[in-house]
Amino acid sequence: MGKCYLCGNDIQIIKDKPYKYNECGLDVTLFGIIQYHCQNCNESYASIPNMQKLHRVIGAYICEKRKALLKPEEIKFLRKDLHLKAKDLAQALGVTASTVSRWENGKKEIGEAHDRLLRSIYIMYTSEQSNHFICDGVINLFKELPAKRKKIKQPVTISLNPQEWLSCMGESCLA
Ligand SMILES: [Zn+2]
Repeated sequence: MGKCYLCGNDIQIIKDKPYKYNECGLDVTLFGIIQYHCQNCNESYASIPNMQKLHRVIGAYICEKRKALLKPEEIKFLRKDLHLKAKDLAQALGVTASTVSRWENGKKEIGEAHDRLLRSIYIMYTSEQSNHFICDGVINLFKELPAKRKKIKQPVTISLNPQEWLSCMGESCLA
């Protein structure tokens, strides 16, 4: 029998009870998780294998299965799972950090375009076939776009020499 990590008393092992994984900020229930309960200090805890993969599955579920606009807690979950600060996500999406905070505390709805872009970024970074050079290239490209861009008035010409397209054949020019 195991011991409680808090008080050292014998701990009760619970095997067949669904576990509410609310620590992730979402309403997630896990089945088949071993749980422990200490009757002495009334503490319960669970042993969750491979949390990182679990978070990836939850994130993919949100991006692929949730048809409505992302909810505040879902936006926060995706951002945190990408290890992005509100400021960094804001930069990538072309909004201010306070806009991201407002999405996450429910004071503002995310909107169609940003919802789709956030899902794209999440899937881009977390898919098994993910190429980090391309992902980081796209994010850096977004970040380098100046905030509050204006329409340009004069026409823009693009001038290229053959070596400029021949030298980036087969490789992403973003990287
Ligand atoms: Zn205890």
